[in-house]
Amino acid sequence: MRYYFQIIVCILFISCSTKPKKQTQIDFTTVDSFFIVKEKLQKEELPSEEEWDQLFNSTGYKVAGRDQSREGYIKLIKLAYYPPSQSEKDSILQFTLKEDLSNMQDYFLKITLENFIKVGEMEKELLTYREQYDFDQKIDAAKEKLKGFLIDPTDSLITVPSISAAIFEPEAYAYPSGIVIDLNKAFQDPDEELIGFFSHELYHMYRSKFENKEYANYNGFTRAIEKLHNEGVADLIDKQDTVFQSALYPKQFTDIYGEAFISTNQTLEQFDELTCKFVKGEVSEEEYNSTTQNMFVFGGHPNGFSMTRSIVKNGQKEALVANFANSLAFIRLYNEAAKVQSKYVFSDELMAYVDQLDDQFFENKNM
Ligand SMILES: [Zn+2]
Repeated sequence: MRYYFQIIVCILFISCSTKPKKQTQIDFTTVDSFFIVKEKLQKEELPSEEEWDQLFNSTGYKVAGRDQSREGYIKLIKLAYYPPSQSEKDSILQFTLKEDLSNMQDYFLKITLENFIKVGEMEKELLTYREQYDFDQKIDAAKEKLKGFLIDPTDSLITVPSISAAIFEPEAYAYPSGIVIDLNKAFQDPDEELIGFFSHELYHMYRSKFENKEYANYNGFTRAIEKLHNEGVADLIDKQDTVFQSALYPKQFTDIYGEAFISTNQTLEQFDELTCKFVKGEVSEEEYNSTTQNMFVFGGHPNGFSMTRSIVKNGQKEALVANFANSLAFIRLYNEAAKVQSKYVFSDELMAYVDQLDDQFFENKNM
């Protein structure tokens, strides 16, 4: 009897282990609904309203808010796959990004369309990948990587939110309700990069649990330095020497990103001058807030990363990571580094404002 039981257990074990891996932590409803409409369009058939509903009600698009731009998205998906749309498609693919990035939103239509086209060309590979790739293992590795990066982390706060795969621009984002990653980006990224990416996003989730919300949203200054600090530290997790490189983005995009990184000194100088005028009341809060909102492009990544790299180069990585939730400490650490590295040094006036905010919002100074 026991012998037969063992055989049954073995058979069960073998049949389970040969099945495709079951992804328990990733939601693929957006990807699956996307491929249904794509297929139809390629056959020159128009998807039904229900099929579009299914796509825009799917988790990935919902979490990423793409249901808010449903009409624009439908247009773009049709341009990518519906044969009669050829000429309009070509005109979007010709778009170029203006140096001042003022047409970034339109430019993202081109990037998204290019990604849709690539997804169409690689459907088979992407579907096999969707079935077989072990995302769960990468997410677990990402948690470990984040634990290794943080100093004395609170493990129970390193939590994996809902993670969905979608098809949009070759990007991935962390939203309050979860992480959404483009399937093609995930497919193109080497394992280490994907683990790094998940770790980067889990870091944002972790940091948000320590955030002083009143301080973080106080004004254009705190919002800007929170952005620089948050992304600058997160980029230390998954970016090494290359600032930004992706075969899925047009070269023009990566070039402008690189230029923003290189001109960090000038951007910080403008930020300093404007902040001092604002503190003295020479610039209205409204004007100050709207100018600083657009000062640090690409979500603050290039300038934030330049600043945290200076701090690390100055031997202060531990202090930087220990103060991961305090962007005022980050500004002080940056200034120490800047003094010895001939980088832009913030004025005494600006640093006095940093002290003032510290007194106003944080009872126990960390530094
Ligand atoms: Zn980030």
